[in-house]
Amino acid sequence: MTVILIDDRGAGTIQIPDAEGEERSYDLTLGGPVMGHQEAGVRVPELPRSVRLTRLDTGDCYLVGRQKSGAWWCSCPSFTFAKRADKTCKHCQCLAPLSAWLRHLLRETVHAERF
Ligand SMILES: [Zn+2]
Repeated sequence: MTVILIDDRGAGTIQIPDAEGEERSYDLTLGGPVMGHQEAGVRVPELPRSVRLTRLDTGDCYLVGRQKSGAWWCSCPSFTFAKRADKTCKHCQCLAPLSAWLRHLLRETVHAERF
C-alpha cells in the first residue's frame, strides 16, 4: 500500500517506512526520460519515465524509474547492491502502485473528456 499525505495547500508527501518500520516522508518530483549513463560509479539504465524521491529528514535523494522492459529501477543502496535477479526496494514497491493508480486516473480523465 502506498500512502500519500496532501495538506490543505496541496503540498504532498509520500510515506515510506524505514528499516525499523517508522514512516518517513519523501518529496516526489516527476522527471522526464533518462538516457542510460554512468553516475558515481553506478550504471543508470535508460528510463522512459523517472521520478526523484527526496527523504525530507535526511535529504537523501533517489532516482526511481521504470525501464522499457517494465522492470523498476532505483538508485538507492538497497537496490544497487541487491544480488537477486528480480531486484526491488521499498521505493520501487511504493511507486509501482502509485504509477498504476495515476495511469488509471489519467485514463479516466481522458475518457471523461470525450463526453
Ligand atoms: Zn530504492
